[in-house]
Amino acid sequence: MAMADCIFCKIASGETRARIVYEDGDTLAFSDLNPQAPTHVLIIPRRHITGLSSAVEEDGELLGKLQLTAVKTAKLLKVEDAFRLVTNNGRGAGQSVNHLHYHLLAGRKMLWPPG
Ligand code: AMP
Repeated sequence: MAMADCIFCKIASGETRARIVYEDGDTLAFSDLNPQAPTHVLIIPRRHITGLSSAVEEDGELLGKLQLTAVKTAKLLKVEDAFRLVTNNGRGAGQSVNHLHYHLLAGRKMLWPPG
């Protein structure tokens, strides 16, 4: 169910605009407002899940779809040979929006460890 004050739920419903790169019935990919790489896209489920640690057994298929959406998006943007997919789970790990999202980053050298 959509959460009234969730910015990503609003993007999923179309209430808030975003530059959408790919969408299907369950998932959405749109450009990050504050890009940290030449390609920086957020991959989200349409359905509100607060973060990865809130996912339950029944979300397994959806979690798989999110990764497949990331690959489809990477192919659309022609970065499938070199990209990073990351989720920040919890405030302490840098999560600022409490709707599960994966960052798809590409187009520059990726450092490791990520910091
Ligand atoms: P995180 O800090 O891991 O929770 O990532 C949240 C990301 O959402 C940040 O990279 C923000 O730049 C991005 N963001 C926040 N609001 C919007 C928005 N309305 N449209 C696109 N990206 C957004």
